[in-house]
Amino acid sequence: MAKQLSELIQIADSQLLTVTTRKPVVMQEGQGMIMRDTTGNSYLDFVGGWAVNCLGHSPRVIIDAINDQARALINSSPSYYNLPMLRYTKLLVDNCCLDRVFFASSGAEANEGAIKLARKYGQKNKNGAYEIITTTNAFHGRTLTTMAATGKAAWKDLYEPKTKGFKQAIFNDLESVRSLLTENTVAIMLEPVQGEGGVNVASQEFMQGLRDMCDQNGLLLILDEVQTGFGRTGKLFGYQHYGIEPDIMTLAKGIGGGFPLSALLAKEFLNIFEPGDQGATYSSQPLAMAVGRAVLKELLSKNIATNSERVGNYLIGRLQAMSEIYDISNIRGKGLLIAFDVSQNNANEISDLCFADGLLINACKPNSLRLMPPLIVTQEDIDEMLSILETHLLKRSD
Ligand SMILES: *Cc1c(COP(=O)(O)O)cnc(C)c1O
Repeated sequence: MAKQLSELIQIADSQLLTVTTRKPVVMQEGQGMIMRDTTGNSYLDFVGGWAVNCLGHSPRVIIDAINDQARALINSSPSYYNLPMLRYTKLLVDNCCLDRVFFASSGAEANEGAIKLARKYGQKNKNGAYEIITTTNAFHGRTLTTMAATGKAAWKDLYEPKTKGFKQAIFNDLESVRSLLTENTVAIMLEPVQGEGGVNVASQEFMQGLRDMCDQNGLLLILDEVQTGFGRTGKLFGYQHYGIEPDIMTLAKGIGGGFPLSALLAKEFLNIFEPGDQGATYSSQPLAMAVGRAVLKELLSKNIATNSERVGNYLIGRLQAMSEIYDISNIRGKGLLIAFDVSQNNANEISDLCFADGLLINACKPNSLRLMPPLIVTQEDIDEMLSILETHLLKRSD
């Protein structure tokens, strides 16, 4: 069996387009906070499918939604309504500050739609204004346009020429945003807490300042809540921490609890696409809608965002206490999107050592570790995670 599997891995490696490196394990099953590989090793999962599996691995409600809907109707076509679409649209829209939704399948696709919607608005209402100001260390996806919006230095020469019309301001620096405004600016786009950029929390002053700047200049505020949405930061949506409302919001990752689903949401005045301007084969697809509805119902009925806030605060408190003894600093985040720094640029080694001990945690930068567990995580899980982690942290020498 083991030999067969390693042969299959070799074949897959010779046939998959190379886009990443993988650990030499084959994950086979998951339940709650735990994943197991084919050799029977189990892993306490603080990566959570990359901030995706908000309800943990293979939760009952998703299994049932998939089973029930698959028996009834898996896919119809964008030309018709379907029952889960009718039920889920209302549930999602009624639970956020936006009025309209377009469903898609990935975060990048939702963001691409948000950018199109902003440009459409610029064409109709602002003399063709099209520029969007994004922020340093942002991450908005991997289509050509969302890569341009992301503006990562490492991608600078990739796939040229990229989509034009993006300018990058310094995150949490209002003046930097203001200095980039021109008559061509149509929107400002950011994550309330930057995820891939290393868990950087937008300040209250920055977020409120951006909202005011948008109001004063007739610009759209686009929040990419692909990672921060769905309870991740301790509220259902990240914008709720700031007492402001975006004009456009995108969701993915947690929204499907592991099923490929995303959403582009907008205020009523942005219901300006004409038929044909935007669409997708899988938009509002029955199986995805049934899963989305099951995930949101569960999040709401079990108050899972509150657990995220409570357990997240507990985790931050414990990390702060540990920072007196161990070499960790700059503990940051909201809810269950948390990171901290280590001083030796050895985050990858620490993550590898934890992996060998059955703990999954993400090294989001050479000197930073990120924690983004399922939102059902308990204090006991946190204690267990930290008891493994601390064996691999350096002690403070001072
Ligand atoms: C993951 C992520 C994306 C991209 O989502 P995909 O589903 O991989 O396309 C976009 N924005 C943010 C903030 C993300 O965390």
